[in-house]
Amino acid sequence: MDGRVVEGTGARLPVARPSDLVEYAEVPIADGDLVDRAVRNAAEAAATSGWASQPPRERARAMRRWADLIEERGTELGRLEALGSTRPIAQAVSGDVASVAEGIRFFAEWADKLGGDVAATRSDNLGLIVSEPYGVVGAITPWNVPLSMASWKAGPALAAGNAIVLKPSELTPFSTVLLAQLAVKAGIPPGILNVVHGTGSTGEALCRHPGIAKLSFTGSTRTGIAVMKAAAESGLKPVTLELGGKSPQLVFADADLEKAAACIAGSLLANAGQACVAGSRLIVQRAVAEQLATLLQTLLSDIAPGPTWLETTSFSPIISEQQAQSIERIIAASLEQGAACIFGGGRLEGHRGAFYQPTMLMQVNGETAAVRKEVFGPVLTIQSFESEEEGFALADHPEYGLAAGVYTRDLGRALRAMRAIKAGTVWINRYSRTLDFILPTGGFKSSGIGKDLGRQAVEQNLRHKTVLVDFGA
Ligand code: NAD
Repeated sequence: MDGRVVEGTGARLPVARPSDLVEYAEVPIADGDLVDRAVRNAAEAAATSGWASQPPRERARAMRRWADLIEERGTELGRLEALGSTRPIAQAVSGDVASVAEGIRFFAEWADKLGGDVAATRSDNLGLIVSEPYGVVGAITPWNVPLSMASWKAGPALAAGNAIVLKPSELTPFSTVLLAQLAVKAGIPPGILNVVHGTGSTGEALCRHPGIAKLSFTGSTRTGIAVMKAAAESGLKPVTLELGGKSPQLVFADADLEKAAACIAGSLLANAGQACVAGSRLIVQRAVAEQLATLLQTLLSDIAPGPTWLETTSFSPIISEQQAQSIERIIAASLEQGAACIFGGGRLEGHRGAFYQPTMLMQVNGETAAVRKEVFGPVLTIQSFESEEEGFALADHPEYGLAAGVYTRDLGRALRAMRAIKAGTVWINRYSRTLDFILPTGGFKSSGIGKDLGRQAVEQNLRHKTVLVDFGA
Protein backbone atom coordinates (compact mmCIF):
# COMPACT_ATOMS: atom_id res chain seq x y z
CA MET A 1 0.00 0.00 0.00
CA ASP A 2 1.31 3.47 -0.94
CA GLY A 3 4.37 1.76 -2.41
CA ARG A 4 5.27 0.13 0.92
CA VAL A 5 4.64 -3.12 2.74
CA VAL A 6 2.08 -2.49 5.48
CA GLU A 7 1.71 -5.14 8.16
CA GLY A 8 -1.85 -5.69 9.32
CA THR A 9 -2.89 -7.03 12.67
CA GLY A 10 -4.97 -9.86 11.22
CA ALA A 11 -4.25 -13.59 11.15
CA ARG A 12 -1.47 -15.20 9.10
CA LEU A 13 -1.97 -18.17 6.84
CA PRO A 14 0.72 -20.73 6.00
CA VAL A 15 1.47 -21.00 2.27
CA ALA A 16 2.67 -24.31 0.80
CA ARG A 17 4.71 -25.06 -2.32
CA PRO A 18 2.48 -27.22 -4.56
CA SER A 19 5.49 -29.24 -5.76
CA ASP A 20 6.19 -30.81 -2.35
CA LEU A 21 3.52 -29.34 -0.03
CA VAL A 22 6.23 -27.82 2.20
CA GLU A 23 4.97 -24.71 3.98
CA TYR A 24 7.56 -22.10 3.08
CA ALA A 25 6.02 -18.80 4.15
CA GLU A 26 3.05 -17.16 5.79
CA VAL A 27 0.74 -14.68 4.20
CA PRO A 28 -0.79 -11.95 6.36
CA ILE A 29 -4.55 -11.73 5.97
CA ALA A 30 -5.97 -8.26 5.45
CA ASP A 31 -9.03 -7.66 7.62
CA GLY A 32 -11.79 -5.19 6.74
CA ASP A 33 -9.84 -2.35 8.30
CA LEU A 34 -6.74 -2.94 6.18
CA VAL A 35 -8.83 -3.34 3.03
CA ASP A 36 -10.44 -0.02 3.88
CA ARG A 37 -7.02 1.62 4.24
CA ALA A 38 -5.83 0.16 0.94
CA VAL A 39 -8.90 1.42 -0.93
CA ARG A 40 -8.73 4.88 0.67
CA ASN A 41 -5.04 5.09 -0.12
CA ALA A 42 -5.73 4.14 -3.77
CA ALA A 43 -8.49 6.77 -3.96
CA GLU A 44 -6.13 9.37 -2.52
CA ALA A 45 -3.45 8.42 -5.06
CA ALA A 46 -6.00 8.59 -7.88
CA ALA A 47 -7.05 12.07 -6.74
CA THR A 48 -3.61 13.55 -6.12
CA SER A 49 -0.97 11.74 -8.21
CA GLY A 50 -2.08 12.95 -11.62
CA TRP A 51 -2.23 9.36 -12.91
CA ALA A 52 -5.52 9.99 -14.72
CA SER A 53 -5.10 13.70 -15.45
CA GLN A 54 -1.58 13.71 -16.95
CA PRO A 55 -1.13 13.46 -20.73
CA PRO A 56 -2.05 9.84 -21.45
CA ARG A 57 1.21 9.12 -23.23
CA GLU A 58 3.01 9.79 -19.93
CA ARG A 59 0.88 7.05 -18.41
CA ALA A 60 1.79 4.78 -21.31
CA ARG A 61 5.47 5.62 -20.83
CA ALA A 62 5.36 4.60 -17.14
CA MET A 63 3.65 1.35 -18.09
CA ARG A 64 6.27 0.61 -20.74
CA ARG A 65 9.02 1.20 -18.14
CA TRP A 66 7.14 -1.26 -15.92
CA ALA A 67 7.17 -3.84 -18.72
CA ASP A 68 10.91 -3.30 -19.23
CA LEU A 69 11.57 -3.85 -15.52
CA ILE A 70 9.46 -7.00 -15.56
CA GLU A 71 11.68 -8.33 -18.34
CA GLU A 72 14.88 -7.25 -16.59
CA ARG A 73 13.78 -9.03 -13.41
CA GLY A 74 12.24 -11.89 -15.39
CA THR A 75 14.33 -14.66 -13.88
CA GLU A 76 13.53 -13.54 -10.33
CA LEU A 77 9.82 -13.12 -11.09
CA GLY A 78 9.73 -16.47 -12.85
CA ARG A 79 11.49 -18.19 -9.94
CA LEU A 80 9.05 -16.73 -7.46
CA GLU A 81 6.11 -17.76 -9.63
CA ALA A 82 7.46 -21.28 -10.08
CA LEU A 83 8.28 -21.75 -6.40
CA GLY A 84 4.84 -20.85 -5.16
CA SER A 85 2.53 -22.01 -7.94
CA THR A 86 2.01 -24.90 -10.33
CA ARG A 87 3.93 -23.21 -13.15
CA PRO A 88 7.13 -25.06 -14.16
CA ILE A 89 10.05 -22.63 -14.16
CA ALA A 90 10.90 -22.99 -17.85
CA GLN A 91 7.33 -22.03 -18.75
CA ALA A 92 7.11 -19.33 -16.08
CA VAL A 93 10.25 -17.46 -17.19
CA SER A 94 10.10 -17.71 -20.97
CA GLY A 95 6.32 -17.98 -21.23
CA ASP A 96 4.39 -16.28 -18.44
CA VAL A 97 6.78 -13.45 -17.51
CA ALA A 98 7.56 -12.63 -21.14
CA SER A 99 3.89 -12.49 -22.01
CA VAL A 100 3.06 -10.40 -18.92
CA ALA A 101 5.62 -7.77 -20.01
CA GLU A 102 4.39 -7.72 -23.59
CA GLY A 103 0.74 -7.66 -22.44
CA ILE A 104 1.43 -4.58 -20.32
CA ARG A 105 2.99 -2.90 -23.38
CA PHE A 106 -0.13 -3.81 -25.35
CA PHE A 107 -2.36 -2.16 -22.75
CA ALA A 108 -0.08 0.88 -22.43
CA GLU A 109 -0.72 1.56 -26.12
CA TRP A 110 -4.43 2.12 -25.40
CA ALA A 111 -3.82 4.95 -22.93
CA ASP A 112 -4.45 7.68 -25.54
CA LYS A 113 -6.77 5.85 -27.90
CA LEU A 114 -10.18 5.60 -26.25
CA GLY A 115 -11.16 9.16 -25.35
CA GLY A 116 -14.76 8.93 -26.55
CA ASP A 117 -16.86 9.95 -29.54
CA VAL A 118 -18.56 12.89 -31.17
CA ALA A 119 -22.23 12.16 -31.82
CA ALA A 120 -24.35 13.34 -34.77
CA THR A 121 -26.67 16.05 -33.39
CA ARG A 122 -28.24 19.23 -34.81
CA SER A 123 -25.56 21.50 -36.16
CA ASP A 124 -25.67 24.11 -33.41
CA ASN A 125 -25.28 21.45 -30.77
CA LEU A 126 -22.22 19.38 -29.96
CA GLY A 127 -22.85 15.90 -28.61
CA LEU A 128 -19.92 14.19 -26.92
CA ILE A 129 -19.50 10.80 -25.36
CA VAL A 130 -16.60 11.29 -22.98
CA SER A 131 -14.66 8.28 -21.63
CA GLU A 132 -13.48 8.58 -18.04
CA PRO A 133 -11.79 6.17 -15.64
CA TYR A 134 -13.94 4.80 -12.83
CA GLY A 135 -11.57 5.82 -10.04
CA VAL A 136 -10.60 2.77 -7.99
CA VAL A 137 -11.11 -0.68 -9.51
CA GLY A 138 -11.16 -3.77 -7.26
CA ALA A 139 -9.67 -6.93 -8.76
CA ILE A 140 -9.48 -10.50 -7.50
CA THR A 141 -7.41 -13.24 -9.14
CA PRO A 142 -7.15 -17.06 -8.92
CA TRP A 143 -4.10 -19.26 -8.30
CA ASN A 144 -3.62 -21.02 -11.63
CA VAL A 145 -1.50 -18.47 -13.53
CA PRO A 146 -1.01 -15.75 -10.91
CA LEU A 147 1.23 -13.26 -12.76
CA SER A 148 -0.74 -13.42 -15.98
CA MET A 149 -4.04 -12.97 -14.18
CA ALA A 150 -2.71 -9.98 -12.21
CA SER A 151 -1.46 -8.33 -15.41
CA TRP A 152 -4.74 -8.94 -17.24
CA LYS A 153 -6.49 -6.99 -14.48
CA ALA A 154 -3.91 -4.28 -13.79
CA GLY A 155 -2.93 -3.58 -17.43
CA PRO A 156 -6.27 -2.32 -18.75
CA ALA A 157 -7.34 -0.69 -15.46
CA LEU A 158 -4.14 1.37 -15.28
CA ALA A 159 -4.06 2.23 -19.00
CA ALA A 160 -7.58 3.63 -18.63
CA GLY A 161 -6.36 5.88 -15.80
CA ASN A 162 -7.76 4.02 -12.80
CA ALA A 163 -6.12 3.06 -9.54
CA ILE A 164 -6.49 -0.62 -8.65
CA VAL A 165 -6.60 -2.66 -5.46
CA LEU A 166 -5.72 -6.22 -6.33
CA LYS A 167 -6.22 -9.33 -4.22
CA PRO A 168 -4.30 -12.38 -5.45
CA SER A 169 -5.23 -15.89 -4.38
CA GLU A 170 -4.13 -16.78 -0.85
CA LEU A 171 -2.54 -19.93 -2.37
CA THR A 172 -0.17 -17.98 -4.65
CA PRO A 173 0.20 -14.49 -3.19
CA PHE A 174 3.82 -13.46 -3.61
CA SER A 175 4.67 -12.94 -7.28
CA THR A 176 1.92 -10.30 -7.51
CA VAL A 177 3.67 -8.32 -4.76
CA LEU A 178 6.92 -8.16 -6.73
CA LEU A 179 4.92 -7.15 -9.81
CA ALA A 180 3.43 -4.25 -7.82
CA GLN A 181 6.82 -3.25 -6.39
CA LEU A 182 8.21 -3.05 -9.93
CA ALA A 183 5.30 -0.80 -10.89
CA VAL A 184 6.38 1.72 -8.23
CA LYS A 185 10.00 1.45 -9.37
CA ALA A 186 8.87 2.18 -12.91
CA GLY A 187 7.26 5.45 -11.82
CA ILE A 188 3.64 4.40 -11.46
CA PRO A 189 2.67 6.53 -8.43
CA PRO A 190 2.56 4.75 -5.04
CA GLY A 191 -1.01 3.76 -4.18
CA ILE A 192 -2.13 3.46 -7.81
CA LEU A 193 -1.56 -0.31 -7.63
CA ASN A 194 -2.18 -1.67 -4.14
CA VAL A 195 -2.13 -5.37 -3.30
CA VAL A 196 -4.09 -6.83 -0.38
CA HIS A 197 -3.70 -10.40 0.79
CA GLY A 198 -6.34 -12.70 2.11
CA THR A 199 -8.96 -15.35 1.64
CA GLY A 200 -12.60 -15.05 0.59
CA SER A 201 -13.50 -12.70 3.43
CA THR A 202 -10.82 -10.21 2.34
CA GLY A 203 -12.16 -10.53 -1.21
CA GLU A 204 -15.68 -9.94 -0.02
CA ALA A 205 -14.62 -6.84 1.98
CA LEU A 206 -13.01 -5.50 -1.21
CA CYS A 207 -16.13 -6.22 -3.28
CA ARG A 208 -18.39 -4.47 -0.77
CA HIS A 209 -16.18 -1.45 -0.16
CA PRO A 210 -18.01 1.76 -1.11
CA GLY A 211 -14.77 3.25 -2.48
CA ILE A 212 -14.55 0.61 -5.21
CA ALA A 213 -16.31 1.77 -8.36
CA LYS A 214 -15.89 -1.35 -10.52
CA LEU A 215 -14.99 -4.98 -9.93
CA SER A 216 -13.02 -7.38 -12.07
CA PHE A 217 -12.89 -10.99 -10.92
CA THR A 218 -11.35 -14.21 -12.24
CA GLY A 219 -12.08 -17.47 -10.49
CA SER A 220 -14.75 -20.12 -10.09
CA THR A 221 -18.35 -19.61 -11.11
CA ARG A 222 -19.47 -20.16 -7.51
CA THR A 223 -17.29 -17.30 -6.24
CA GLY A 224 -18.23 -15.18 -9.26
CA ILE A 225 -21.87 -15.40 -8.16
CA ALA A 226 -20.87 -14.24 -4.65
CA VAL A 227 -18.88 -11.34 -6.16
CA MET A 228 -21.84 -10.28 -8.30
CA LYS A 229 -24.16 -10.45 -5.29
CA ALA A 230 -21.77 -8.34 -3.21
CA ALA A 231 -21.44 -5.86 -6.08
CA ALA A 232 -25.22 -5.61 -6.40
CA GLU A 233 -25.73 -5.13 -2.67
CA SER A 234 -23.06 -2.46 -2.27
CA GLY A 235 -23.90 0.16 -4.83
CA LEU A 236 -24.55 -1.77 -8.06
CA LYS A 237 -20.92 -1.88 -9.13
CA PRO A 238 -20.30 -3.04 -12.68
CA VAL A 239 -18.54 -6.41 -12.78
CA THR A 240 -16.28 -8.24 -15.18
CA LEU A 241 -16.36 -11.96 -14.37
CA GLU A 242 -14.00 -14.51 -15.91
CA LEU A 243 -15.23 -17.84 -14.59
CA GLY A 244 -15.05 -21.59 -15.04
CA GLY A 245 -15.29 -23.66 -18.19
CA LYS A 246 -15.93 -27.15 -19.56
CA SER A 247 -14.75 -26.59 -23.07
CA PRO A 248 -15.42 -29.06 -25.92
CA GLN A 249 -12.94 -30.30 -28.53
CA LEU A 250 -15.09 -31.16 -31.54
CA VAL A 251 -13.21 -33.40 -33.99
CA PHE A 252 -14.65 -34.41 -37.37
CA ALA A 253 -13.47 -37.44 -39.32
CA ASP A 254 -11.89 -35.31 -42.07
CA ALA A 255 -9.61 -33.45 -39.62
CA ASP A 256 -5.83 -33.62 -39.54
CA LEU A 257 -5.94 -36.07 -36.64
CA GLU A 258 -2.29 -35.76 -35.66
CA LYS A 259 -2.62 -32.01 -35.39
CA ALA A 260 -5.90 -32.32 -33.49
CA ALA A 261 -4.34 -34.83 -31.08
CA ALA A 262 -1.38 -32.51 -30.45
CA CYS A 263 -3.70 -29.58 -29.71
CA ILE A 264 -5.96 -31.61 -27.42
CA ALA A 265 -3.07 -33.20 -25.51
CA GLY A 266 -1.34 -29.82 -25.24
CA SER A 267 -4.44 -28.27 -23.74
CA LEU A 268 -4.88 -31.10 -21.24
CA LEU A 269 -1.24 -31.21 -20.17
CA ALA A 270 -0.77 -27.43 -19.83
CA ASN A 271 -0.65 -26.64 -16.10
CA ALA A 272 -1.97 -30.23 -15.62
CA GLY A 273 -5.39 -29.18 -16.83
CA GLN A 274 -5.62 -26.37 -14.29
CA ALA A 275 -6.67 -23.84 -16.89
CA CYS A 276 -10.05 -22.21 -17.35
CA VAL A 277 -9.95 -22.95 -21.09
CA ALA A 278 -8.75 -26.57 -20.72
CA GLY A 279 -10.39 -28.47 -23.60
CA SER A 280 -11.60 -31.25 -21.37
CA ARG A 281 -14.51 -32.73 -23.37
CA LEU A 282 -13.49 -34.58 -26.54
CA ILE A 283 -16.42 -34.97 -28.92
CA VAL A 284 -15.25 -37.03 -31.87
CA GLN A 285 -16.89 -38.43 -34.99
CA ARG A 286 -17.28 -42.16 -34.43
CA ALA A 287 -15.27 -43.27 -37.50
CA VAL A 288 -12.03 -41.83 -36.07
CA ALA A 289 -12.68 -42.11 -32.32
CA GLU A 290 -10.44 -45.10 -31.77
CA GLN A 291 -7.61 -43.75 -33.93
CA LEU A 292 -7.66 -40.41 -32.09
CA ALA A 293 -7.74 -42.08 -28.66
CA THR A 294 -4.65 -44.10 -29.62
CA LEU A 295 -2.79 -40.98 -30.77
CA LEU A 296 -3.75 -39.23 -27.53
CA GLN A 297 -2.51 -42.11 -25.37
CA THR A 298 0.94 -41.76 -26.90
CA LEU A 299 1.05 -37.99 -26.40
CA LEU A 300 -0.35 -38.11 -22.87
CA SER A 301 2.31 -40.66 -21.88
CA ASP A 302 5.06 -38.18 -22.69
CA ILE A 303 5.16 -36.13 -19.49
CA ALA A 304 7.93 -34.86 -17.23
CA PRO A 305 6.42 -34.31 -13.77
CA GLY A 306 8.60 -32.87 -11.02
CA PRO A 307 9.19 -29.89 -8.79
CA THR A 308 8.31 -26.67 -10.57
CA TRP A 309 11.75 -25.20 -9.84
CA LEU A 310 13.55 -27.77 -12.02
CA GLU A 311 14.21 -26.81 -15.65
CA THR A 312 13.45 -30.40 -16.67
CA THR A 313 9.88 -30.31 -15.34
CA SER A 314 7.09 -29.72 -17.82
CA PHE A 315 4.11 -31.38 -16.11
CA SER A 316 2.67 -29.45 -13.17
CA PRO A 317 1.63 -30.58 -9.71
CA ILE A 318 -1.96 -30.09 -8.60
CA ILE A 319 -2.20 -26.88 -6.57
CA SER A 320 -3.13 -28.59 -3.26
CA GLU A 321 -4.05 -31.89 -1.67
CA GLN A 322 -7.61 -30.58 -1.38
CA GLN A 323 -7.82 -29.94 -5.14
CA ALA A 324 -6.34 -33.40 -5.87
CA GLN A 325 -9.05 -34.95 -3.70
CA SER A 326 -11.68 -32.99 -5.58
CA ILE A 327 -10.38 -34.52 -8.85
CA GLU A 328 -10.49 -37.98 -7.27
CA ARG A 329 -14.08 -37.48 -6.12
CA ILE A 330 -15.21 -36.48 -9.63
CA ILE A 331 -13.46 -39.51 -11.18
CA ALA A 332 -14.92 -41.88 -8.58
CA ALA A 333 -18.43 -40.49 -9.12
CA SER A 334 -18.02 -40.82 -12.90
CA LEU A 335 -16.89 -44.46 -12.63
CA GLU A 336 -19.86 -45.15 -10.39
CA GLN A 337 -22.09 -43.67 -13.08
CA GLY A 338 -20.71 -46.18 -15.61
CA ALA A 339 -17.72 -44.36 -17.10
CA ALA A 340 -14.76 -46.48 -18.24
CA CYS A 341 -11.25 -45.24 -17.57
CA ILE A 342 -9.09 -46.07 -20.62
CA PHE A 343 -5.98 -44.17 -19.52
CA GLY A 344 -4.56 -42.91 -16.22
CA GLY A 345 -7.11 -42.53 -13.47
CA GLY A 346 -4.97 -42.05 -10.37
CA ARG A 347 -2.15 -40.21 -8.67
CA LEU A 348 1.37 -40.18 -10.05
CA GLU A 349 3.34 -41.82 -7.26
CA GLY A 350 6.83 -40.96 -6.08
CA HIS A 351 6.29 -37.23 -5.56
CA ARG A 352 5.81 -35.27 -2.35
CA GLY A 353 3.28 -32.95 -3.97
CA ALA A 354 -0.02 -34.13 -5.44
CA PHE A 355 0.41 -35.11 -9.09
CA TYR A 356 -2.44 -36.59 -11.11
CA GLN A 357 -2.06 -38.81 -14.18
CA PRO A 358 -3.37 -37.58 -17.51
CA THR A 359 -6.66 -39.44 -17.65
CA MET A 360 -9.20 -40.40 -20.33
CA LEU A 361 -12.77 -41.53 -19.61
CA MET A 362 -15.13 -43.16 -22.10
CA GLN A 363 -18.75 -44.36 -21.85
CA VAL A 364 -19.81 -41.01 -20.50
CA ASN A 365 -22.87 -38.87 -21.17
CA GLY A 366 -24.16 -35.42 -20.27
CA GLU A 367 -25.00 -36.59 -16.75
CA THR A 368 -21.55 -37.99 -15.94
CA ALA A 369 -19.85 -35.93 -13.23
CA ALA A 370 -16.62 -35.49 -15.26
CA VAL A 371 -18.65 -34.17 -18.23
CA ARG A 372 -20.84 -31.86 -16.17
CA LYS A 373 -18.36 -30.42 -13.66
CA GLU A 374 -15.20 -28.41 -14.14
CA VAL A 375 -12.52 -30.88 -12.96
CA PHE A 376 -9.54 -28.49 -13.10
CA GLY A 377 -7.14 -31.39 -13.60
CA PRO A 378 -5.75 -33.41 -16.56
CA VAL A 379 -8.96 -35.32 -17.25
CA LEU A 380 -10.47 -35.77 -20.72
CA THR A 381 -13.90 -37.27 -21.33
CA ILE A 382 -14.64 -38.82 -24.73
CA GLN A 383 -18.04 -38.82 -26.41
CA SER A 384 -18.67 -39.80 -30.03
CA PHE A 385 -21.24 -38.82 -32.65
CA GLU A 386 -22.36 -39.58 -36.21
CA SER A 387 -23.97 -36.46 -37.66
CA GLU A 388 -22.83 -32.85 -37.61
CA GLU A 389 -25.97 -31.81 -35.71
CA GLU A 390 -25.35 -34.48 -33.10
CA GLY A 391 -21.76 -33.20 -32.69
CA PHE A 392 -22.93 -29.60 -32.28
CA ALA A 393 -25.53 -30.64 -29.70
CA LEU A 394 -22.96 -32.58 -27.65
CA ALA A 395 -20.53 -29.64 -27.78
CA ASP A 396 -23.08 -27.39 -26.10
CA HIS A 397 -22.73 -27.50 -22.31
CA PRO A 398 -25.79 -26.61 -20.24
CA GLU A 399 -23.83 -24.41 -17.85
CA TYR A 400 -20.50 -23.31 -19.33
CA GLY A 401 -19.48 -21.52 -22.54
CA LEU A 402 -15.88 -20.39 -22.23
CA ALA A 403 -14.05 -21.84 -25.25
CA ALA A 404 -14.21 -24.58 -27.87
CA GLY A 405 -11.93 -26.29 -30.38
CA VAL A 406 -13.18 -27.43 -33.80
CA TYR A 407 -11.10 -29.66 -36.07
CA THR A 408 -12.11 -30.21 -39.70
CA ARG A 409 -10.75 -29.54 -43.21
CA ASP A 410 -14.24 -28.49 -44.38
CA LEU A 411 -14.41 -24.69 -44.18
CA GLY A 412 -18.21 -24.59 -44.34
CA ARG A 413 -18.50 -27.06 -41.49
CA ALA A 414 -15.95 -25.16 -39.42
CA LEU A 415 -17.95 -21.96 -39.82
CA ARG A 416 -21.26 -23.72 -39.10
CA ALA A 417 -19.67 -25.03 -35.89
CA MET A 418 -18.43 -21.54 -35.03
CA ARG A 419 -22.02 -20.25 -35.33
CA ALA A 420 -23.56 -23.18 -33.45
CA ILE A 421 -21.22 -23.24 -30.46
CA LYS A 422 -22.24 -20.96 -27.60
CA ALA A 423 -18.82 -20.01 -26.26
CA GLY A 424 -16.78 -16.84 -25.93
CA THR A 425 -13.88 -18.24 -27.99
CA VAL A 426 -13.89 -20.78 -30.82
CA TRP A 427 -10.52 -22.03 -32.01
CA ILE A 428 -10.52 -23.74 -35.40
CA ASN A 429 -7.78 -26.28 -36.15
CA ARG A 430 -5.81 -24.97 -33.17
CA TYR A 431 -6.29 -24.61 -29.42
CA SER A 432 -5.17 -22.18 -26.72
CA ARG A 433 -4.44 -18.50 -26.52
CA THR A 434 -1.64 -16.82 -28.45
CA LEU A 435 0.25 -13.57 -27.83
CA ASP A 436 -2.43 -11.77 -29.87
CA PHE A 437 -3.53 -9.64 -26.94
CA ILE A 438 -5.94 -7.85 -29.26
CA LEU A 439 -8.18 -10.94 -29.12
CA PRO A 440 -10.42 -10.65 -26.05
CA THR A 441 -11.21 -13.61 -23.85
CA GLY A 442 -14.37 -14.19 -21.85
CA GLY A 443 -17.23 -16.58 -21.36
CA PHE A 444 -20.85 -17.03 -22.34
CA LYS A 445 -23.43 -18.42 -19.91
CA SER A 446 -22.02 -19.20 -16.45
CA SER A 447 -18.47 -18.83 -17.76
CA GLY A 448 -18.61 -15.10 -17.27
CA ILE A 449 -19.56 -11.56 -18.09
CA GLY A 450 -17.38 -9.17 -20.08
CA LYS A 451 -13.88 -9.65 -21.40
CA ASP A 452 -10.26 -9.68 -20.38
CA LEU A 453 -7.66 -8.70 -23.00
CA GLY A 454 -8.37 -6.86 -26.23
CA ARG A 455 -9.71 -3.34 -26.65
CA GLN A 456 -12.80 -4.51 -24.76
CA ALA A 457 -10.82 -4.94 -21.52
CA VAL A 458 -9.75 -1.29 -21.61
CA GLU A 459 -13.26 -0.13 -22.55
CA GLN A 460 -14.65 -1.99 -19.54
CA ASN A 461 -12.37 0.07 -17.33
CA LEU A 462 -13.86 3.30 -18.65
CA ARG A 463 -17.28 4.80 -18.11
CA HIS A 464 -18.95 7.08 -20.59
CA LYS A 465 -20.39 10.50 -19.90
CA THR A 466 -22.80 12.08 -22.34
CA VAL A 467 -22.31 15.80 -22.94
CA LEU A 468 -24.56 18.02 -25.06
CA VAL A 469 -23.50 21.60 -25.74
CA ASP A 470 -25.89 24.15 -27.23
CA PHE A 471 -23.86 26.84 -28.99
CA GLY A 472 -26.71 28.35 -31.00
CA ALA A 473 -26.78 32.16 -31.02
P1 NAD B 1 -11.87 -19.31 -6.48
O1 NAD B 1 -13.18 -18.82 -7.01
O2 NAD B 1 -11.87 -20.30 -5.39
O3 NAD B 1 -10.99 -18.08 -5.96
C1 NAD B 1 -10.66 -17.00 -6.79
C2 NAD B 1 -10.34 -15.79 -5.94
O4 NAD B 1 -11.52 -15.36 -5.26
C3 NAD B 1 -9.30 -16.03 -4.85
O5 NAD B 1 -8.46 -14.90 -4.78
C4 NAD B 1 -10.15 -16.16 -3.58
O6 NAD B 1 -9.48 -15.80 -2.40
C5 NAD B 1 -11.26 -15.17 -3.88
N1 NAD B 1 -12.52 -15.39 -3.15
C6 NAD B 1 -13.00 -16.52 -2.60
N2 NAD B 1 -14.23 -16.30 -2.06
C7 NAD B 1 -14.54 -14.99 -2.29
C8 NAD B 1 -15.66 -14.17 -2.02
N3 NAD B 1 -16.75 -14.64 -1.39
N4 NAD B 1 -15.64 -12.88 -2.43
C9 NAD B 1 -14.57 -12.39 -3.10
N5 NAD B 1 -13.47 -13.12 -3.38
C10 NAD B 1 -13.45 -14.41 -3.01
O7 NAD B 1 -11.09 -19.83 -7.77
P2 NAD B 1 -9.65 -20.54 -7.81
O8 NAD B 1 -9.79 -21.92 -7.25
O9 NAD B 1 -8.62 -19.64 -7.23
O10 NAD B 1 -9.38 -20.60 -9.38
C11 NAD B 1 -9.87 -21.60 -10.20
C12 NAD B 1 -11.09 -21.12 -10.96
O11 NAD B 1 -10.76 -19.94 -11.71
C13 NAD B 1 -11.58 -22.11 -11.97
O12 NAD B 1 -12.97 -22.21 -11.91
C14 NAD B 1 -11.14 -21.49 -13.32
O13 NAD B 1 -11.92 -21.90 -14.41
C15 NAD B 1 -11.26 -20.05 -13.03
N6 NAD B 1 -10.46 -19.26 -13.97
C16 NAD B 1 -11.09 -18.60 -14.99
C17 NAD B 1 -10.35 -17.89 -15.94
C18 NAD B 1 -11.02 -17.19 -17.08
O14 NAD B 1 -10.36 -16.40 -17.78
N7 NAD B 1 -12.30 -17.42 -17.33
C19 NAD B 1 -8.95 -17.85 -15.83
C20 NAD B 1 -8.34 -18.54 -14.77
C21 NAD B 1 -9.11 -19.24 -13.85
